[in-house]
Amino acid sequence: MLKGVPTLAGRNLRLLTTQAQVLVHQRAKASAAEPVEDFDQETDLLKRAKFGHTGKQLQQKIINEKNLRAPPLMNLVFANRKLSFYDTSSTPKTKEDNAKLSQRRHYSMRPHREQEQRNAEDVLFDMFASEETGLISMGKFLAGLKTTGIRRNDPRVRELMDNLKKVHKLNNYETGSSAETQHLNRETFKAVVAPNIVLIAKAFRQQFVIPDFTSFVKDIEDIYNRCKTNTLGKLADYIPQLARYNPDSWGLSICTIDGQRFSIGDVDVPFTLQSCSKPLTYAIALEKLGPKVVHSYVGQEPSGRNFNELVLDQNKKPHNPMINAGAILTCSLMNALVKPDMTSAEIFDYTMSWFKRLSGGEYIGFNNAVFLSEREAADRNYALGFYMRENKCFPKRTNLKEVMDFYFQCCSMETNCEAMSVIAASLANGGICPTTEEKVFRPEVIRDVLSIMHSCGTYDYSGQFAFKVGLPAKSGVSGGMMLVIPNVMGIFAWSPPLDHLGNTVRGLQFCEELVSMFNFHRYDNLKHLSNKKDPRKHRYETKGLSIVNLLFSAASGDVTALRRHRLSGMDITLADYDGRTALHLAASEGHLECVKFLLEQCHVPHNPKDRWGNLPVDEAENFGHCHVVEFLRSWAEKADQSSEECKPEAVTSKTQADEEICSTSDLETSPTTSPIPTPVESGSRAGSGRSSPVPSDAGSTASAGSSIDDKTKPGL
Ligand code: GLN
Repeated sequence: MLKGVPTLAGRNLRLLTTQAQVLVHQRAKASAAEPVEDFDQETDLLKRAKFGHTGKQLQQKIINEKNLRAPPLMNLVFANRKLSFYDTSSTPKTKEDNAKLSQRRHYSMRPHREQEQRNAEDVLFDMFASEETGLISMGKFLAGLKTTGIRRNDPRVRELMDNLKKVHKLNNYETGSSAETQHLNRETFKAVVAPNIVLIAKAFRQQFVIPDFTSFVKDIEDIYNRCKTNTLGKLADYIPQLARYNPDSWGLSICTIDGQRFSIGDVDVPFTLQSCSKPLTYAIALEKLGPKVVHSYVGQEPSGRNFNELVLDQNKKPHNPMINAGAILTCSLMNALVKPDMTSAEIFDYTMSWFKRLSGGEYIGFNNAVFLSEREAADRNYALGFYMRENKCFPKRTNLKEVMDFYFQCCSMETNCEAMSVIAASLANGGICPTTEEKVFRPEVIRDVLSIMHSCGTYDYSGQFAFKVGLPAKSGVSGGMMLVIPNVMGIFAWSPPLDHLGNTVRGLQFCEELVSMFNFHRYDNLKHLSNKKDPRKHRYETKGLSIVNLLFSAASGDVTALRRHRLSGMDITLADYDGRTALHLAASEGHLECVKFLLEQCHVPHNPKDRWGNLPVDEAENFGHCHVVEFLRSWAEKADQSSEECKPEAVTSKTQADEEICSTSDLETSPTTSPIPTPVESGSRAGSGRSSPVPSDAGSTASAGSSIDDKTKPGL
């Protein structure tokens, strides 16, 4: 997150709970007959008490604030019942309504949810409101929302933006500001955000698939800039429209499955879909006909040949729907089987409407000049059509001329990076468009589409792409590269210069750099494999879980689990908020084997202090574990004799729960956190015979011998 932008997940957890407690307490105290105003006043009183006002001063403050809050904005807002954000829960209800309401409360969880949401609105207000004026700056609020990846034009916050406009119009109290920078009081703010509060709360609670979107975006910008300097590649020149592109054009857009958006570079410049249309028409055919029918006409194998090669597989079918022959065949299925009764014009509209829905209504157009040029320069594509007709590849009733035109039309549909990233995100999201939440395709269809994209999406580079990037993608001759990270995000890169296989040079570099930084490759999730970043994880979640697991293993005396943690490269010196390490826990529970393992094999410091200044040996003593006390004392004595032994840094210095998690590279290079002695360290230890200051028991699972063995294990 940007500095200075608060989040519900961080700063306000405490605020949330204390305020909720105050509210609950107040509510319990308030009698049914008490007017709402009094309740508000009491809450305000409490709030003001927090800032140190007392007695008369406080009363005066409350009066002042009430004056500030009430007219004229509130009168206008609450007098106008036509406004959609008017809080209906406060309208007078009939007896019947009340009965229904209480029944609903009785049988459903909804009131809880409503209450939660109401609290979220309050917390949001407190996050951004000025203590001096008691008003919230909507400019600040919307800027905060943007850092989570949600844009102002996102359809899911349309009501919020409409409400802001309505309030601004009604409010002639504040003149200098726009609808988006106006200042609102608590009640108006709550009414304004209420229709979209679920999404907004999710955003500020960092519950999106990329919780720390700002950091992620910084990394993406770095990769983008590196690719920008790459000037290799040549423009496609088989039609003049492609040859005229500016080779410096470079745009990149990202849309996550939660609709978090980021764009950089030439993201609004229009270009034609070309081969990036192929997975989309294939998806429509699958949705309408099912995979059995579709694949009775077209295969699923990579062709191993050029995308427009005059070749069929051994069954006399086109190899797959991602090459020209396969895509022409898919177009014939649309004409002859999906919509046999439609005219060519209707099929064009029909197809375009699918693309539009996938893009959440963003830009999908048509470039007639490209269409005409494509049709002119289409000898090979016509040859493919005739060759397939000769081999009886098409369904009956196929009109080849119409099919060819339809294929060229699909290639000539126009779009931009922004829209294409939403299309890619809809694929990543199992066929549901993240921004409109419309279910466009069935997930089974998307699974099939992604499978083919994975193996056949980047022409003759597909095998290498699957190996290096390990993600489904589709490139096009206009310089587009659609990349899908299933269940995470869609990315669209556009830059016209192509390599000798027809893939965008910058787009390809971006994909390869992306997976070398993040663990997005299909097989990056293999256990113990990756030290790459995982932007899907919450930074606190990662660290918190590690600490809990580690400390739990030590407290329960589970040496095997400790060994596993060490094998996985975990920082064994981690401590909890109180500065208690695995060694503290093992010592206080009297688990000698664990204590030995931690000292002898993990080389953790023997003397970390917790926040009360207690050492592990103090813990063992307090709980009467003499054998552990003896061992730790003797270890400490020997360690004291050796200047190299047990690094002096206090483990507690980096154990604040709210501290930033160390990056993987930090862990790798930090001498105090690495469980692995450096070669020099291990050499000197072995050489000086001081690998363990205390000889291990013969029966110990953690002997000095195994310590040396462990150091030679791969991955250690
Ligand atoms: N219009 C191009 C063709 O059919 C599309 C192919 C591509 O993008 N690779 O030749």
